[in-house]
Amino acid sequence: MALITKAIKGTQDTLPMDSHKVRFLEATLADIAGNYGFKEIRTPVFEHTELFNRSVGDTTDVVQKEMYTFDDKGGRSITLRPEGTAGAVRSFLEHGLFNEPSPMKVYYLTSCYRYEKPQAGRLREFHQFGVECFGTSSPAQDAEVIALADEVFGFLGVKGLELQINSIGCPHCRPVYQKALKDYFTAHKDELCETCTDRLERNPMRIIDCKEESDELKDNAPVVLDYLCEECKDHFEKVQKYLEAMNIDFTINPRIVRGLDYYTKTVFEFVSHDIGAQGTVCGGGRYDGLCEELGGKSIPALGFGMGMERLMLLLEAQGIELPKEETMALYLATAGDAASFKAAQIVHDLRAEGVPCAFDTVGRSIKAQMKYANKTGADFTAVIGDNELESGTVQLKYMETGETTEVRLDNFAEDFQQIAMNAAMSALQAELNTSEGDLANVDLSALLGGNTTWTE
Ligand code: ATP
Ligand code: MG
Repeated sequence: MALITKAIKGTQDTLPMDSHKVRFLEATLADIAGNYGFKEIRTPVFEHTELFNRSVGDTTDVVQKEMYTFDDKGGRSITLRPEGTAGAVRSFLEHGLFNEPSPMKVYYLTSCYRYEKPQAGRLREFHQFGVECFGTSSPAQDAEVIALADEVFGFLGVKGLELQINSIGCPHCRPVYQKALKDYFTAHKDELCETCTDRLERNPMRIIDCKEESDELKDNAPVVLDYLCEECKDHFEKVQKYLEAMNIDFTINPRIVRGLDYYTKTVFEFVSHDIGAQGTVCGGGRYDGLCEELGGKSIPALGFGMGMERLMLLLEAQGIELPKEETMALYLATAGDAASFKAAQIVHDLRAEGVPCAFDTVGRSIKAQMKYANKTGADFTAVIGDNELESGTVQLKYMETGETTEVRLDNFAEDFQQIAMNAAMSALQAELNTSEGDLANVDLSALLGGNTTWTE
């Protein structure tokens, strides 16, 4: 039984009382990405294993230790995506999106799978918000992509995140750096883990990203910034100038090499100190060689991936509340079959106009129905019984103030919407008064909530 009633280790459910937070976050991210000209791309949850081996890189932790890889019934090696970039690049090349106006900017909200040791902020199924931009090698684009991530955090009110940037060079200058690293780590060969002993020959830069090695060993290693060619140096300086122009604070961290092989030039991370060891909420960079590596044309590109679960942890750690869940605008309590039929009709009509409302479908007592209405936070309630059916009117109660208004049953939908709109307007007025007319202090979304659709 335990296998049936327990989710797989490292996976999480989003429960009905929390899902609105995720939806709010997703909508916010989509909106901000949209403002920057990014359009959504959706790619399959699995791809040919080879795609990840080639793009993420076969000396990375992700490929060497973390992928969910299996043979399908046709004997193909399939891998559940461990990150979003590879699929986006594959799709970009496959569908010739380079023929569309350039730069091509895409974003995604997607699940990712990595066989890692589950802990706070580290799951086996997690979700990424990512953006990718194809077709420009200008440092202006690096800065714009970083600015997008920065704006997400700013919009949500997240504090204390540190933007760390670095440049890891290009195919011209990186080999010289790799050589220096190889010499350094060869002298410390006996301190390396088994995987890194192998990396020493094939990709010594990966050792800096390995979590097994001591900080001391990594801290004393040669620094990539000392090895950049003129072009990479100039690019990195300009990225900084753009960030300064946009007033985005950053620090240079020459230790960031990023966990995936495809990066060139700019790499960056947004790091928090509020959510424990897994503090990197967002990481990204430029990957100018990836399109060509995957068999396409040489097209410069860059992007980032933001961990949604880590973002959520951060919001919780900083006590940032997301707008409240949309509540029922109306709950109709009923006594008797005839009243229930009438309530069904009213609710049906109102829902067709986009009003979130409900009536009793359990057959509970009026008292129990009102308790339910209270618990679920309905804005308005009304009780329909024989008397109401006879008089053709019902008392509509605004739960916030207890105020009641008589409404005609045969014109309920129209009357109700008028009353609800008036209530929303006076709540807004009251809020404006208490916030001394400062609109910035008014939580409009909380006030109007789902009502926005039916007050227009
Ligand atoms: P880390 O150093 O924490 O392992 P990474 O370098 O492997 O991160 P990326 O591949 O850059 O991470 O993924 C981008 C973002 O996705 C990370 O910054 C993080 O927010 C999130 N992320 C990565 N792995 C996980 C995971 N196992 N569980 C939850 N979020 C993750
Ligand atoms: Mg990792």
